[in-house]
Parts: sequence; C-alpha cells; structure tokens
Amino acid sequence: MYDVIIVGARCAGSPLAMLLAKQGHRVLIVDRATFPSDIMSTHYVQPEGVKRLQDWGLYDRVMASNCPPIPSITFTLAGVPFVPPKDPALPDAICPRRTVLDKILVDGAREAGAEVRESFSVQEILVEDGVVVGLRGRNSDGSAVEERARVTVGADGQHSIVARTVQAGEYDTHPAATCGYYSYFSGVPLKDGGAEAYVGNDAGVLAFPTNDGLTCIGAGGPHDIFHAYRADIEGTFYRLVQQASPAFAERVRAGTRAERWIGTADTANFFRQPFGPGWALCGDAGYHKDFVTGLGISDAFRDAEFLSEGLDAGLSGRQPLDEALDAYQKRRDEAAKPMYDVTVQFAQFPSLEEMAAAAASASQATAAAESAGTQA
Ligand SMILES: Cc1cc2nc3c(=O)[nH]c(=O)nc-3n(C[C@H](O)[C@H](O)[C@H](O)COP(=O)(O)OP(=O)(O)OC[C@H]3O[C@@H](n4cnc5c(N)ncnc54)[C@H](O)[C@@H]3O)c2cc1C
Repeated sequence: MYDVIIVGARCAGSPLAMLLAKQGHRVLIVDRATFPSDIMSTHYVQPEGVKRLQDWGLYDRVMASNCPPIPSITFTLAGVPFVPPKDPALPDAICPRRTVLDKILVDGAREAGAEVRESFSVQEILVEDGVVVGLRGRNSDGSAVEERARVTVGADGQHSIVARTVQAGEYDTHPAATCGYYSYFSGVPLKDGGAEAYVGNDAGVLAFPTNDGLTCIGAGGPHDIFHAYRADIEGTFYRLVQQASPAFAERVRAGTRAERWIGTADTANFFRQPFGPGWALCGDAGYHKDFVTGLGISDAFRDAEFLSEGLDAGLSGRQPLDEALDAYQKRRDEAAKPMYDVTVQFAQFPSLEEMAAAAASASQATAAAESAGTQA
C-alpha cells in the first residue's frame, strides 16, 4: 500500500513524486513511456518555472545539456516590437528539449526515493464504494498488476484516465480556438539569443533557441484551418509565418528544417475539479489551455508544488485531507486564472491594443497571486 500513486511522469508527475518522496511519503509513479522520450510540445519554460528548477536542485543538470538561457522575448504585434520588462528576481527563461527536461525530472523523482515504473500502462482506476483506491495496469512484459494507495493522482495529461474515471467536472471552459505545427531549424539564429514571437493577420509565430544550436519554430492559425494545414503543412506553415512577419519569414527560409513536423488542434481550455475521495489531478490533467502563451510546463511545476503541500498536510494528519486539497484547488485557480484569461483571449487573435492591455494587467495579477500562493 502506497501513500500516493501518480499516473504520468513528466512535468507535473515527476516533480510531485520528488517533492512527496522528500517529505517522507511512500510514492509510486508510473508512465507508459520510457525516458528519455519526446512528447508533442514546444518547451519554453517561463522564468517562474526555471526558478522552481533552481529551487529543486535540477537547474544545473538542464543547463549542462547545453541548453541556452533566453535573456529576452520580443513580441512583434502587427509589426510593432515590444519587449516586456524582466523581473530582476527571476532567472532567464530556457527552452530545453523534452527528451532532456523530462528525463532530468524522472531521475529527480527516483533519486528522492520515489519508486518509478516506466513502460507501465494504466488500464483501469480502481474505485470501491465511491473512493479511488488504486489502479490496474500492465508492465512492459504484458503482466497485469494491481497497486493500491491512499491517494491516486492523475498527472497523465489532458485526456487523463483518472479524470475520465471519476468524471471530474470542468469549469471556465472555452473551446479550442487555434491549431499549429512546429519543427526544429538550423541556420535561424534569433536576435541576441532571445525568443521571438510574431502576431498579426490571423497568424502567430513563436521561435525559441533550444539544444544543439537548433531553433524551435511554431506557426499557428485559427482552429478551423486545421484540415487544410494538415493537408499542406509546409505551404501553410510558411504562409502563416509570412502573414505574421515577412521579415522573419525570410530568415526562416534561409535556414534548414532539421526534424519532422509536429502539430495539433487539440487546444481546448478548461479547469477540472482537481480532487475527490481518494484522487487528485495535477498539470494538464487538471487544468489545460491553449499553448499560445507557453505556460503548461511552468504551470505544471507550480501545481506539483501546491499539490505536494496539500497532500503532505492531509496525509500527515496536520489538516483533514479534503480541506487541504480544497486549499490546493483555490491556490491553483487563483494563481492560474489571470494568465488563463489572457491565453483564452490571445487564442482569438485579438487587436494589438487588447493584447497589450490584457498582458499588462495579467502580469500584475499573476505576480500577486504567485506571491500569495508561496506565502500560504
Ligand atoms: C504543440 C504544443 C506546444 C506546447 N508548447 C509549450 C511551451 O512552449 N511551453 C510550455 O510551458 N508548455 C507548452 N505546451 C504545454 C505542455 O506541453 C504541457 O502543459 C505539459 O506537457 C503538461 O505536463 P503534464 O505532466 O501535465 O502532462 P504530459 O506532459 O502530457 O505528460 C503526461 C504523461 O502521462 C502519461 N500517461 C497518460 N496516460 C497514461 C496511462 N494510461 N498509463 C501510463 N501513463 C500514462 C503519458 O505517457 C505522459 O508521459 C505545449 C503543448 C503543445 C501540445
């Protein structure tokens, strides 16, 4: 019998396992993937997320992978450049490949004392008398196994089997509004080693420096162009980059695509009720939004920290578990809501003035909510 079983071992699950194991809890974490492995995601980590990697003692390992720090991000909205001011208390953003980042996170969980099972596929969440009591799954050799815990956590992405089983309610929902494809390019250096974002004419482009001297570039448009985009990825990608910025399109054309295209229109926005009898949700499983603002990884880190504190308070008996998890939900929602609203708005390709006003008020609200959250 474990204290906590976690399904999913990436940005939400592994930090949660690491933090709980460090608090002395008996933790099992499983993933159908093996590590290192990739997942569909660009991987810009916001300064708040980088700060957590530093706090957890994992930052140096990420930087040792030769992942460049990103000193600035320049947004060019309808041709007008804008560099948001940096918070001097926070480190530079980074954009490590998920093959690099997720492996470091899983290793961190294992070293902290969590039991990690890779290549383990969860088939069923076990519910007895309305309480989640564990799971049934398959090891890599196909053998079936059942494991039990006081709390089973879904850190298993937006299509979470845990959320599906308990029918976790959704709120503040907004339908998918964008779609996009990305790949990796050589020969497209970015200005001063910073990230670049271009928005205009119903197109958005994001470009980040990443490992191995490559530049990760994504181009998105409204959700309803997805079928046409998929039918002609190369043509649509360059058309969208041209629409957003003819000058940047020229730089991209001068480079060489080094890897395959990856894309999606699976960009729905929702919060889910993140706890109930015997279960909790963390990361994308509990709160999903459009990738346009590049927040998912940093938000998953934050939610892992908040949930670990709630579970620790509940499992150690300092506070009734449901009260502690109710506090987790409130902290999560308060911290996430300002940038969630901006994300939903940006995904609609609003006017330049609307974007600037939304970004300014959200950054103030987020800073206030984060600092209230860390003081709770
Ligand atoms: C195109 C795109 C671009 C993005 N760009 C960025 C960006 O630049 N910056 C950013 O911060 N975020 C970005 N995101 C969002 C980011 O990828 C997610 O928010 C983040 O990966 C969430 O982490 P997670 O741990 O919650 O879930 P995931 O990373 O989805 O991990 C879930 C894990 O659960 C495992 N799992 C699921 N079901 C089972 C099962 N039944 N049994 C066993 N294991 C299971 C999976 O194998 C997986 O490893 C992007 C997303 C997309 C799609």
